[in-house]
Amino acid sequence: MQAIVCEEPGRLAFKEQERPEIKEGYAQIRIRRIGVCGTDLHAFEGTQPYFTYPRILGHELSGELVEPNGAPGFKKGEIVTFIPYFNCGICIACISEKPNCCAKINVCGVHVDGGMAEYLNVPTYSLVHGDGLSYDELALVEPLAIGAHGIRRADVKPGEYVLVIGAGPIGLGIMEFARIAGAKVIAMDLNTKRLEFCMDRLKVDHIINVSAENVLERLSTITEGDMPTVVIDATGSLKAINSGFQYIAHGARYVLVGLQKGEISLSHPEFHKREATLMSSRNATRQDFEHVIASMKKGLVQPSNYITHRVQFDKVTDEFESWLDPANGVIKAMIEVQRAPL
Ligand SMILES: [Zn+2]
Ligand SMILES: [Zn+2]
Repeated sequence: MQAIVCEEPGRLAFKEQERPEIKEGYAQIRIRRIGVCGTDLHAFEGTQPYFTYPRILGHELSGELVEPNGAPGFKKGEIVTFIPYFNCGICIACISEKPNCCAKINVCGVHVDGGMAEYLNVPTYSLVHGDGLSYDELALVEPLAIGAHGIRRADVKPGEYVLVIGAGPIGLGIMEFARIAGAKVIAMDLNTKRLEFCMDRLKVDHIINVSAENVLERLSTITEGDMPTVVIDATGSLKAINSGFQYIAHGARYVLVGLQKGEISLSHPEFHKREATLMSSRNATRQDFEHVIASMKKGLVQPSNYITHRVQFDKVTDEFESWLDPANGVIKAMIEVQRAPL
């Protein structure tokens, strides 16, 4: 089979590989769509921490189940996606029903080889039914589930003001699921085009351009002096995260979905007097995947809002680098894989 291997930062190459053998506990998927994520782009750039090469990238996937291998309830030939965070099943997080933050997690396409290939073996426990959705939709479930998980972590209630900082692909997903939860959504970013997109396509209630406006004043006006009861960072920028502490209401939750490498600093008295809650949100769980699929089926999330670029598998090495350039306006690049022979 054909696979695209990231041999070292800056170099992707097609490799002819043996199609994986069927083995105990693993199902086999014939890959048909691969969504390209920030993680893949950063791995290619060489800026992704803890990354080793060579590595086959790709974790936003959909395809045909060519070998269910005993996965309960799954049929040969059905269209599936899967949860790409392979967990150990026995650590403290796993036994507390938090496999998304397993102490020994192996993320597909990060810690182990991913799906930029014609076939992929995945643990049978990770499979998710396609439920009538298209390949495109199913390849979008994982990035959207990250947003759905952040909203569930924050336990967003109808009518709350939710401020989402960062309007990249993950931030957009957070905004969608905040809206679906009944929140009043405030989108914040530096980029006017992205903010207009949030207003026009995602129907957020308010937008704030952090580079052009007085953020504290705007937030105070919008919330009638209360400030947002939920603030979610989707930038992964230390500066943005530290600034976010100023925006939270008394009694608020501040959720970090974006990740950065530095140390956060905050004013303890300001944080304390608010009795605020700071939490991280990592990956997603089956419950989040199912919530995303149900929301797509109801038409609450439109894939066309996300897929800005499309390329055939055999052209990926030509196009990949261009998706790093913000001027190209990439939200989600989708790779189409032709049906490989069995
Ligand atoms: Zn991703
Ligand atoms: Zn575990």
